[in-house]
Amino acid sequence: MTSLLLFDTLTRQKQDLGPPGQAPVRFYSCGPTVYNRVHVGNLRAFLFYDVLKRALLWLGYPVRHVMNLTDVDDKTIKGSRAESVSLRAFTERYTELFLKDMDALGALRPDVMPRATDYVPQMVDLVQRLLDKGVAYRSDDGSVYFKIGAFPGYGRLSHLEARTLQAGAGGRVAQDEYEKEDVQDFALWKAWSEEDGDVAWDTALGKGRPGWHLECSALAFEHLGESLDIHAGGVDLVFPHHENEIAQSEAASGKTFSRLWVHNEHLLVGGQKMAKRLKNFFTLGDLVQLAGATPREVRYALISAHYRSQLNLQVTYEGEGEARRPVRFDSLEVARGALRRLDQFRKDLQAKATGEAPAGGAERLARAKDEYREAVRDDLNVPRALGVLFELVTDVNKLGAWDAAYAREVQAFLDDADRVLGVLTPEPEALAPDEQALFERWKAAREAKDWAAADEARAALQAKGIQVQARKGSEPTWARG
Ligand code: AMP
Ligand code: ZN
Repeated sequence: MTSLLLFDTLTRQKQDLGPPGQAPVRFYSCGPTVYNRVHVGNLRAFLFYDVLKRALLWLGYPVRHVMNLTDVDDKTIKGSRAESVSLRAFTERYTELFLKDMDALGALRPDVMPRATDYVPQMVDLVQRLLDKGVAYRSDDGSVYFKIGAFPGYGRLSHLEARTLQAGAGGRVAQDEYEKEDVQDFALWKAWSEEDGDVAWDTALGKGRPGWHLECSALAFEHLGESLDIHAGGVDLVFPHHENEIAQSEAASGKTFSRLWVHNEHLLVGGQKMAKRLKNFFTLGDLVQLAGATPREVRYALISAHYRSQLNLQVTYEGEGEARRPVRFDSLEVARGALRRLDQFRKDLQAKATGEAPAGGAERLARAKDEYREAVRDDLNVPRALGVLFELVTDVNKLGAWDAAYAREVQAFLDDADRVLGVLTPEPEALAPDEQALFERWKAAREAKDWAAADEARAALQAKGIQVQARKGSEPTWARG
């Protein structure tokens, strides 16, 4: 079997995507609101999209992946006004930082990353369609609201009770974000108000700006058409964001907006959702600086749990209150250990390729391949997929030695498996700044033929587990071990 099974939030069942065909899988994922540096909780969501896309490609599906950049909403406007910079300059800054983090984490770039503000005419058209169909209406201030009572399917994705829906009937909510208890008609288009400053578009709907929910429907329509295959986001987006996306898209097109809805669970810290408003967040930069982590270790830590399970970033703190400081990031230590084991295995595969073709080796490898494929195919079970790799490592190690052909086959499997995970290939090793300084001192001393100083620097490097070598006619080199 090659088709991917995914747990669909709408039907609450695993659904079969069907076998790969010629047409690309139309894949939409909700991107970042670019008003702040993203935290590793957000990055968990983006890496989930990345692993999903990689899995699709690996299973043979062509994919067209669209991820929006929310560069106009309540938060971006507030942020840019607080700094007195233009909305575009403000959101560009955070877009660049976001892309830097994503590149560092080895995420494949989406095929299209549309900025919401570049599509205001399309959004206005969509609102017009909804007004024409009588499922949207104007309020006194000129804003346009979606009438949830006019869309019978409202609440299906988030399983809203009829009671909750009734409670909200007739009311309106202007904010982009609100809770289930506050379910009400939501804003598609917001008439200009003082808090918007100079953020406004003059359109057929009047002077104003789009609501957040509208963005994703208009961008998906524009880049993928009116029906998608997979729509992804974090669980916090199920209500109201995705509920509203379904309502406005389906009311306008009369078609199913997305065949499958997939949602990743949250990254927690100290048992609580990592969130900007709770001020309990860490960015990728924080983890690199505070924990000395590599982006590869962070990627491993964030993808290693099943996407539908909560994942707790374990941190050990010292001190109390204001003085409380993180002293150890336990989850990253675990990731580091796991990656060390895999890297060591990669080295051993070559080093121990001194024997015969191992008895049963081919069968063992074939089993790992089957199990790995099944783990990926069955709702993207990354922990199981990693388990398959570690079990193989254990069993191959037990063989003691093997021939070069077997080493190559096992290595080829790991390389292939890494097309899904994107963590198995070691980063090029680098020296820490103090190690680099010693290495430079050793080279300079050799040049100056100051053998005593060179020996001293070499010994200091050896004490740190670094061996140096200088061969005639080639650059001096170093290696760990
Ligand atoms: P935002 O920029 O707030 O719109 O969030 C971008 C993405 O990050 C959305 O898919 C959210 O669902 C997701 N997200 C936010 N916080 C977390 C968290 N703590 N763990 C996992 N995903 C999150
Ligand atoms: Zn969205």
